[in-house]
Amino acid sequence: MPEGDSVWRLSERMQPLVGREVTYSQFRVPQLATADLAGERIERVWPHGKHLFWLVGDRVLHTHLRMDGIWRIHAEGTRWSAPAHTARVVVRVEGGVELVGHDLGIVELWPAREFESRMGWLGPDLLADDWAGEAQAPEGRDAAREGARGEMGQVGRSSETARSDDARQKGGKPAAVAASDATHQPEGEPAPVAPSDATHQAGGEPAPVAPSDVTPQAGNEPPAVSSGGLGPRWRPSGRAEALRRLAANPGRTLGEALLDQRNLAGIGNEYCAEVCFLRGLHPASRIGAVDVEAVVDLAWKLMHANLSSPVRTFTGDHRRGHTTFVFGRAHRPCLRCGTAIEKSTLGGADSVADPRAGMERIIWWCPRCQRVAG
Ligand SMILES: [Zn+2]
Repeated sequence: MPEGDSVWRLSERMQPLVGREVTYSQFRVPQLATADLAGERIERVWPHGKHLFWLVGDRVLHTHLRMDGIWRIHAEGTRWSAPAHTARVVVRVEGGVELVGHDLGIVELWPAREFESRMGWLGPDLLADDWAGEAQAPEGRDAAREGARGEMGQVGRSSETARSDDARQKGGKPAAVAASDATHQPEGEPAPVAPSDATHQAGGEPAPVAPSDVTPQAGNEPPAVSSGGLGPRWRPSGRAEALRRLAANPGRTLGEALLDQRNLAGIGNEYCAEVCFLRGLHPASRIGAVDVEAVVDLAWKLMHANLSSPVRTFTGDHRRGHTTFVFGRAHRPCLRCGTAIEKSTLGGADSVADPRAGMERIIWWCPRCQRVAG
C-alpha cells in the first residue's frame, strides 16, 4: 500500500525531471480534460506524506496514489505496461521520457499561490528535512536518495535502466515507479475505476482546518516557508508539532490519530498496524493513555529504515508474505505467540477529517500481544 516511504521514493526517482520542459500532456479526468502543461518547465517535484506535488510553471500538479495508483516511467513510444483505460495523466518531457499515472486517486492542477489554502491542512511529514529540527538526518537516507535518483536519472537514455527495484525483482517486468507497491498490483489485474471515482476525488474540497491546526508551536508567528516557496517548515521541528497535535486530542484512538494526515503525514494502514503491534498497543487504545512519543519515533525509524530497502519490511524478512507482523495477515497465526490475527475497522465515517482518506481505516492486531490502553 502506498505510504510515506513509497511516495518519498517515487519523488526521488522523479527528481531528474526537474528543469525539463513538458512537451505533451493529457489529463484523463473530467475536470482537467482541457488542461495542458506543454511548454511549461517542471520546477520542483516533492512529496508530503502520501501526496506528490510537481511545480510546473506556476501551477501545482497534485496527485495521490490512494490504494492502487502507480506511476510508470518509460521511453516515449514504449508500449504501456498497464491498461490504457486506467491512465489518468500522461506527461512527456524533454529527453523522450513519458510518465503515465495509472489509477491515481487524486489528480488536481491549480495555481501555486493556492498551495496553502488547499494543502495547509497537512501535518508535518515524517520524512521531511524539518522533522527533527536541527538534528541530523539518519544515516542511510542519503544513500537511499542517491540510489533512487541514479536509477531514474537514466530514464530516457535506456529503457533497460528505467526499471524500478520491483521490476528488477520480478525479473524484468516493465518499469513501475511505485516502489514496494508494485508488488501489490498483480500484472493484468488492474482495478477498474469508474469515472465517478476520479470526479469525486479530484473534486473533493480540502478538509476544513481550525486555525490552531496549522499554526506552528513556536509563538504565533506564521510558518517559515521552505526553500521551494511552497509548504510549511515547522518550528522547532515537525516532530514537536506532530506530538502537540496528537496530544491535543487525548480521547481519540491511536489508530485514527496516526492515520489522520493533519496530525502527521505519511502513515497509512500498514505502518499504523505494524507500529501498534511493535509497541504492544491495540489501535483502539486512547492517545492519552499511551507513550505517543515512542510510537511516533518508532514510525519514523521504521519508515527511514525502509527508504533504502528494496521491499518494505517490518520483520526484517523481505520475502513476499513475510514482511509484516499483522498487516494483511487476518486469521493467520501471530509470528510471536501463534494467536490468530484479527481484522476490523476503526472509527466512524466522520472520524477522519480528510474526506479523501475514505475507507483506509482497516486495522489488524494480535489479541494477545496488543493491549487496549485507556
Ligand atoms: Zn501475538
